[in-house]
Amino acid sequence: MKIGFIGLGNMGAPMAANLAKAGHDVTGFDMAQVHIDGVRMAESAGAAATGAEVVITMLPNGAILRAVADQVIPAMDKGAVLLDCSTVDVESARDVAAQAVAAGLHALDAPVSGGVGGAAAGTLTFMVGGTEAGFAIAKPLFDVMGQKAVHCGPSGNGQAAKICNNMILGVTMIATCEAFALADKLGLDRQAMFDVVSTSSGYSWSMNAYCPAPGIGPKSPADNDYKPGFATDLMLKDLRLSQQAAEAADADTPMGRAACDLYAQFVEHENGKGRDFSAMLPRFEKRGRG
Ligand code: NAD
Repeated sequence: MKIGFIGLGNMGAPMAANLAKAGHDVTGFDMAQVHIDGVRMAESAGAAATGAEVVITMLPNGAILRAVADQVIPAMDKGAVLLDCSTVDVESARDVAAQAVAAGLHALDAPVSGGVGGAAAGTLTFMVGGTEAGFAIAKPLFDVMGQKAVHCGPSGNGQAAKICNNMILGVTMIATCEAFALADKLGLDRQAMFDVVSTSSGYSWSMNAYCPAPGIGPKSPADNDYKPGFATDLMLKDLRLSQQAAEAADADTPMGRAACDLYAQFVEHENGKGRDFSAMLPRFEKRGRG
């Protein structure tokens, strides 16, 4: 397929490289100077989108997505697909999709989980909002860049799935970390705590697959001095998006709100920035109730 790829950062660059490696004809654009083997670079976003059957965007936020969409939509041929893989607010995703559909395009919002490692290995999971017809066109590209693509319903539903999932993740990570810190103070050995909880009703992905206690459970960023992994600032971004969506939809999300406030405190005032999001455990370890 002829593909335009805009936003070639930590995630976009390896995704574009995998598409080129699989034999697709990829033209890229980024504000920064980048070189990717097999990817031809264009002078502008519009130039990268011209003549493409699918234009993929992988950008930092909704405001930038809107600005890039204004440039690429007029350059695209009718029937082509605008496939946004960034994590952005639901409202921007739906507005950009409506603008694309009005121009005769297919529009998909397809945020990912799996991080930089998953992007490089081609094992991302895509959560996809948009039409069946658009999903069918993009499916072979999801198969190259990832191992799973779930069609979640109409435009915006991919972003909705992503922020709901990550709200659960933020909340369960905090709960897992504060429970470990309490167990420490009660004299309960961490290995015993893991052995019980990971096979009891307190189990979760945070405990079982990504245990925040060093040396316990499978290998995780806790075993690498809490280097990310999944950084606190990215978790904070997703928790803020979930709170923005909850406000717009009038949904009561007290645990999501508390998790958002706590990650904001950690990132902005307690040197949590740049650490893995499981570094909540050493944060709690040092604290008492006061
Ligand atoms: P990044 O900052 O490394 O890359 C973003 C790229 O977009 C940069 O290269 C930047 O130069 C480019 N860019 C910015 N404005 C532009 C414009 N107007 N035109 C063209 N290019 C422009 O970010 P990333 O880590 O690659 O993340 C991209 C998206 O993926 C974000 O929405 C993020 O939330 C999401 N995401 C990231 C991860 C992760 O682990 N990094 C995991 C899942 C989802």
